[in-house]
Amino acid sequence: MSLLVSADTPAPCWRRYSWAAAALALGLATLVLPQPLGATVIEPAAAVREPIIGPWAPPPVPDEPVSRWQEPGPADVESLSFPHFTGPEFNELFTTAALPNLSPVSASPTITDSAEMDEQIRTEAIERGYQRRPLPADYALLRLIDDGLALQRPAAAAWLALEQDAAEHGFELELQSAYRGHRYQRAVFLRPLEAPYGLEVLAERLKVSAPPGYSKHHTGYAIDIGQVGHSHFGSSPAHEWMSADNFANAKKHGWIPSYPPDGGRQGPMPEPWEFTYVGVEAILCFHQPPTGDDPLCTA
Ligand SMILES: [Zn+2]
Repeated sequence: MSLLVSADTPAPCWRRYSWAAAALALGLATLVLPQPLGATVIEPAAAVREPIIGPWAPPPVPDEPVSRWQEPGPADVESLSFPHFTGPEFNELFTTAALPNLSPVSASPTITDSAEMDEQIRTEAIERGYQRRPLPADYALLRLIDDGLALQRPAAAAWLALEQDAAEHGFELELQSAYRGHRYQRAVFLRPLEAPYGLEVLAERLKVSAPPGYSKHHTGYAIDIGQVGHSHFGSSPAHEWMSADNFANAKKHGWIPSYPPDGGRQGPMPEPWEFTYVGVEAILCFHQPPTGDDPLCTA
């Protein structure tokens, strides 16, 4: 079995990991995830601890239907002219965006069962351009999308707007992954590997998967999406629609590519299916000096 999953791997069913399943898993001595690639990852009980986010509880049921959570955006968004970004600028835009409800994490989550190996793989990860990512500050503010995936509230609204816009253009999008905690990201990272983990295979894995602590999914502002009926989003008509003109149709709803094709040293290889929410205003104002004349950008 190849350890290097294709950069445009079709979305497997395990990405549909529900909050209910996560809550249930916490109560078990071992965690077994569905393994479409063959290998089974069984985390020993000692590793199931989630010391970073403390007692974990699923967020409450949303107090209103998600379809009503449309954030007020620029009314004339259709007529806006969005700035062009290079790959590194897209990455800087996400890292510097003032996104609400995030809390930096100082402690490093466990990756393997060896602290020494973990240090080495973190060094390799940073060398590839991975960055530590914050976690939601208040999990009660996350919103569940109808298939059980959770997003930060502005991202949930923006996902629904993007989904609707795409549908009006004939593309049926599906949300395949959203918020992920450290423990879940660890399972994703180790999923196709077998213990004991060697530095070489772990470094190879970094080409396609973030180790826990370094995934943009930790923030609740990253999504993996697919087009129904197409196993490779990067070559789908929906991706062509979203990415045209420097991702104009994504920007319109506040989304930018998470790992763009020309992103350089950004962690994994480019991932055409992953997008991050930064908001329309952050996109419009990225190149504006803080004291510029544009009232939108100086508010
Ligand atoms: Zn992703």
